[in-house]
Amino acid sequence: MARIVMKFGGTSVADLDRIKNVARHVKREVDAGHEVAVVVSAMSGKTNELVGWVQNTPKVAGADHSIYDAREYDAVVASGEQVTSGLLAIALQAMGINARSWQGWQIPIRTDNAHGAARILEIDGGEMVRRMQEGQVAVVAGFQGLGPDNRVSTLGRGGSDTSAVAIAAAVKADRCDIYTDVDGVYTTDPRIEPKARRLKKIAFEEMLEMASLGAKVLQVRSVELAMVFKVRTFVRSSFEDPDAPGMGDLLNPPGTLICDEEEIVEQEVVTGIAYAKDEAQISLRRLADRPGVSAAIFGPLAESHINVDMIVQNISEDGSKTDMTFTVPSGDVEKALRVLGENKDKIGYDVIQNESGLVKVSVIGIGMRSHAGVAATAFRALAEKGINIKAITTSEIKISILIDGPYAELAVRTLHSCYGLDKS
Ligand code: ASP
Ligand code: MG
Repeated sequence: MARIVMKFGGTSVADLDRIKNVARHVKREVDAGHEVAVVVSAMSGKTNELVGWVQNTPKVAGADHSIYDAREYDAVVASGEQVTSGLLAIALQAMGINARSWQGWQIPIRTDNAHGAARILEIDGGEMVRRMQEGQVAVVAGFQGLGPDNRVSTLGRGGSDTSAVAIAAAVKADRCDIYTDVDGVYTTDPRIEPKARRLKKIAFEEMLEMASLGAKVLQVRSVELAMVFKVRTFVRSSFEDPDAPGMGDLLNPPGTLICDEEEIVEQEVVTGIAYAKDEAQISLRRLADRPGVSAAIFGPLAESHINVDMIVQNISEDGSKTDMTFTVPSGDVEKALRVLGENKDKIGYDVIQNESGLVKVSVIGIGMRSHAGVAATAFRALAEKGINIKAITTSEIKISILIDGPYAELAVRTLHSCYGLDKS
């Protein structure tokens, strides 16, 4: 017997038929004798609709049109998950399974005060576990918690992944299964490279890089939590027949296991290729090369909530002037240029240049730590295809390369094949 948390995303609970199908997945695990907690998202599209309603509600006279009370935003958008948790509990009961829904406040899942993007502080899983031990399935509304002021809070878009991993950590589950509309994590985006392969296992750190680089399988925060609490997390499809052979396999169900690197025996050097579109590059030319320039540039950008990514600074020839290049999301370029313009005197640069529509392609793998020449392989392969590199950054387990947008797909395919990821 094991304790399992099963999470179903919006497309998996999109209508009553799919909710019935989810109930069959749950029944399979219950029949096998496991203790089960289920975490659900809202029906797909529902949260968008709720957010839209909040945004289009008349505001207090004279208030800025974009400002609404964040506590009431949460009261509205948390309702989508309330509906699906109740519906799934009913569907399970109809199959003869003892099930009960739980809203975030009923557990409770305590969060901080950042309404709309709250972080989980504490989960008191005691009562839920007691009932699970008695054979009751807990059906938990994802995405929501209870703030310090006893008001409903939500965890930010995609937050029910985080609910699931946090609950798995709190109830010490043996596994957290994330059921979604894809059947696992792939070596790269299969829409770009049809030869992409589903990974059997991927290390937490690698998944964190893949997720933050736009492989949108999981909310990044959920991967961070899984890594900290070592929650073995499976990404698998809810659209497969719930009773197909192997679906209930405790050790090797179909899907991708995100786990500690020690569990990965045959580690490849490179695990995957990720990419992030719509990057822009900003260069400040002929800056004074003195202590405090970086702070003068990136301080005001941070205060304006502009997310700076790659930063490249040249060593100056004579110790007096240098160049600084960095990237921001394309959508933030105008704002960044304005902020830098306002601070021109404090920073002390000569000219600003910028270019949008760039793409960052990244090679990810913990095996890089112990292998030389991984970067050189990428540079050679891209050169052979005539792809120009505009900037490079590296970390222990990642090489990121900035290139022109139109070359994105070619670069992804080139890197995918140069590390042998095409071969099964
Ligand atoms: N329903 C929420 C959203 O759409 C949370 C989730 O699905 O993870 O963002
Ligand atoms: Mg999601």
